[in-house]
Amino acid sequence: MYTIRELAFPGTAEEALSLLRKGRNNVILGGGCWLALGRRRYGVGIDLSRLGLDAIRREGDELVLGGSATLRALEKNGDACALFGGILSHCVRPIVGVQLRSRATVGGSVYARFGFSDPLTALLCLDCTVELAGEGTVPLEVFAARPAVERDIVTGVRIRIEDRATAMETMRLTATDLPILTAAVSRLGKDWRVVVGARPGRPVRVPGVEAALAHGASPAQAGRLAAEGLTFGSDLRAGREYRALLAETLVARCAARVEQEVSR
Ligand SMILES: Cc1cc2nc3c(=O)[nH]c(=O)nc-3n(C[C@H](O)[C@H](O)[C@H](O)COP(=O)(O)OP(=O)(O)OC[C@H]3O[C@@H](n4cnc5c(N)ncnc54)[C@H](O)[C@@H]3O)c2cc1C
Repeated sequence: MYTIRELAFPGTAEEALSLLRKGRNNVILGGGCWLALGRRRYGVGIDLSRLGLDAIRREGDELVLGGSATLRALEKNGDACALFGGILSHCVRPIVGVQLRSRATVGGSVYARFGFSDPLTALLCLDCTVELAGEGTVPLEVFAARPAVERDIVTGVRIRIEDRATAMETMRLTATDLPILTAAVSRLGKDWRVVVGARPGRPVRVPGVEAALAHGASPAQAGRLAAEGLTFGSDLRAGREYRALLAETLVARCAARVEQEVSR
């Protein structure tokens, strides 16, 4: 369990950011689920609950996920269920249980950029930007590739509302365990997006597979290309070769489901 010397409840994002940057040992508190697994001692724990960032709402042609919105809110939200083939709601359902999903936040999940992240895999196959209190708006793909060390605050994620067909598949050794592979595919016209995560490295798009699909590759070919084009690693949960095999299978399945959806 982590400890904090002092708890702060800033009223604005600017105040929260200035507190964060005031001490190297100060920390933003999301749902605290992942922080709770560590044993670190922090200075000021910065609680974001007074910033009004817990909403999921439409704004013009975008769906905006507040940084403090919980994964459970994402799972149950009407727009998250209805838009993008429901991938935003679907992607969080295998994560542990309702109690954890009711605490873990969108901001904590995006900021942490875990290799195994289900939400990051799903979001990367949509057209998204991350809103940071200090830096402003950054494409999710750019943010996802950076080391998780910047002293900034994820205030929200913006997703362009478009009629993208989507599919996502994950493999877990047991229900509710961390995934050993995640795959998501989406298509809007000729624009395909293919994302693979839990390799066990971070979720990444696979441009070669996206281009192949746009030029008429079959789902089976797309799966093979994904397995050949990515690097995989071994850990306690799965070996490199097994992960490559899973990538081939899950990408092929997702691409086939997306094709079916588009031809309906
Ligand atoms: C037992 C367990 C199993 C899990 N299984 C899965 C799984 O299968 N799939 C999956 O995708 N995820 C899984 N997770 C991760 C979980 O879904 C959340 O991503 C994780 O708990 C972080 O969210 P949080 O709100 O709890 O963040 P916290 O634990 O509060 O914070 C995590 C990090 O992010 C920082 N942070 C938090 N919020 C912000 C913000 N708004 N801006 C900037 N920095 C911020 C914190 O300072 C900290 O460094 C699991 C977590 C646990 C504890």
